[in-house]
Amino acid sequence: MRYAETGFDLEVDLSRGSIDRVETDPEMTKLHLGGLGTSARILWDRVPADAEPFSDDNLLIFSTGLLCGTAAPGCNRTIVTTFSPQTRLMAYSMMGGFWAPELKHAGYDKVILRGRSPDLVYLWINNDKVEIRDASHLRGKGAIETAECLRKELKEPNAQVAAIGLAGENRVFYASIEQGRSSASRGGIGAVMGDKGLKAIVVRGTKDVNIARPAEFMDLCKGVLDYIKWREDHPIPGVPAILSVLGSPQEMKIVDEEWHTTSFMWGNARTRRRDFWSHEIEEKWRKTQEDVRTRLISCYNCPMKCGATISVPGQPTYMMKCYSKLTYTMAAYSDLEFGFRIAQRATEYGVDGFSTPQVMAFALELLEAGILTDADFPGMPADVEGRFFWLLDRIVRREGIGDALADGTYWAAKRIGKGAEKFDHNTIKKQEQLPLKLGMLNPVYYLMYSTGEKINITQIEGQFPQAPFPTKEEREAFVKDWFQVPDPKFKQYLLDWEPRGENSNPLYPSVEASCDIVDWQEKMHYIDDALGTCAGLSSFPLKPPYHIHNFPGFVSAGTGIDFDEASLWKAATRNRTLLRAINVRRGMRRADDKPPEDHWKKRFPDLEKKLLDEYYKMKGFDGNGIPTKESLLDLDLACVAEDLEQRGIIGKANAAGEKAPAGEDLKGKEVLSHA
Ligand code: SF4
Repeated sequence: MRYAETGFDLEVDLSRGSIDRVETDPEMTKLHLGGLGTSARILWDRVPADAEPFSDDNLLIFSTGLLCGTAAPGCNRTIVTTFSPQTRLMAYSMMGGFWAPELKHAGYDKVILRGRSPDLVYLWINNDKVEIRDASHLRGKGAIETAECLRKELKEPNAQVAAIGLAGENRVFYASIEQGRSSASRGGIGAVMGDKGLKAIVVRGTKDVNIARPAEFMDLCKGVLDYIKWREDHPIPGVPAILSVLGSPQEMKIVDEEWHTTSFMWGNARTRRRDFWSHEIEEKWRKTQEDVRTRLISCYNCPMKCGATISVPGQPTYMMKCYSKLTYTMAAYSDLEFGFRIAQRATEYGVDGFSTPQVMAFALELLEAGILTDADFPGMPADVEGRFFWLLDRIVRREGIGDALADGTYWAAKRIGKGAEKFDHNTIKKQEQLPLKLGMLNPVYYLMYSTGEKINITQIEGQFPQAPFPTKEEREAFVKDWFQVPDPKFKQYLLDWEPRGENSNPLYPSVEASCDIVDWQEKMHYIDDALGTCAGLSSFPLKPPYHIHNFPGFVSAGTGIDFDEASLWKAATRNRTLLRAINVRRGMRRADDKPPEDHWKKRFPDLEKKLLDEYYKMKGFDGNGIPTKESLLDLDLACVAEDLEQRGIIGKANAAGEKAPAGEDLKGKEVLSHA
């Protein structure tokens, strides 16, 4: 018997209309845990290195995490993986809510989709009965509207639905997959779902999930729940309100947005408004938020309430959490009321709340600069809010200028030309980032921005404070009960970190300390993404309830496969290295590992080179960011080493960080750029 996981995947070929229930190899669980790890292995094994994102060969995998559906609090993430039309690299995006636990209870760990359906269809998974059904009546419908229609049509009010809106159908490069209480938004995974002709996956599951050692497992769950309660009553002092508690930043509860509105950029990630926040704004925004927020809501098996249902008069109710209430507001230099209003339409269309507002602000900048003209925007209203709604409608339909903008700022700038590339200043590997522009280089963030395979800073960071505490006393107080650290050296790193002087950015944390901190942060994310744990209870907040000291117990008692800290750390390293290998095989190299060009005003090329060199060394990569044969063998990834060697990618790449000679670089250029 398999524990925590079901041991079965659903394999669906949308071209042929076939559905198979396939038993999985338990060795893969030992190597890669589950979720992101096993999905990455499937992409490595089965998708050709030069497969186009929009092609029959590309796979779209909906995965549960290894602990999803168990009693482990907050283990509910659906991990969606594929190859991104926007970055052309591997995309992985996660959503909370109830979908993954429902799939586990239906008896499957993953749904693996290949091929493309000639007609729009949806997949209906009802325990053992699985059908591909016609979805032509859902064409053009919103993602939330689709979910409601399908629940009614199937007479299954408790079914969980993951659906795309118009943006996914029209293959907008930053289309999301929505599922009522959450969305998987990054990397254009909704566009791949649209390309496959799949409007939705509906799941109903009523089976049990087995646990190897239930009493031990439940004790660990109780420990996590007790800690969550304790932390609720003891927020961390000396950090911004949203960082002082657990969960996804509690923005549906918290009204104080001074930190975001004065630290983050407005418009196309351009302007900092240090004096924006005031008592009047706070009172106005409090009223706006409380008027539209009908209920705070949770995900499956979680005591936190990070999301809220939002009901704007005259519009259908939708769900929102986190920073998305501000992305449209700030990109349009507008007001919170506008943010709540446009987010409803954007959720129905199914678009990424980080990329979309920036693309629209970028378009308006091009208009202002004369690169685009009024002729490109026929009938666009004069007011900025009207303009944002107008642009959103054009983008999701790929109408007029909306067609270029639907490819994101990087590709749109290339298509528009006439100097538009200069206005694409906030992307990494062709994907829009949080609108942050800062003064002094931060070495830890430099590494995370440059090297993270997620290409999304908010889902790479966490655990270590974002800024030093001003006084020694505050630092000492912080480290006193910091038991989550994997090694006591991290406490010393924090104790020595000062806001000014020798021990401040950019020279401190030192190169070695920065690499250690990044390593810890990213490993925790890789563990979460394999287990399906919400980052809001683990890798993202300070002092979380899940950490490297209790995770091995959860995995061991849950699955019956014994892990200790070292072997769990190694599994996370293996998964991280595998993702790098996947992207390297598609042509990614050191030259691609860089933050947005103007992210920091003060840059230090020598220090940045040292940081990258040391990080690569620590990770077992060569100077070009390619995993070495030795490190791959050490991580039991001999098949990866062999493949990269056969292609001439390892063994011949030089250590100085230069590109391998032409012809040995696996058509890297062709893969990373659109023909
Ligand atoms: S912490 Fe928040 S986002 Fe995470 S599972 Fe719980 S309710 Fe969902």
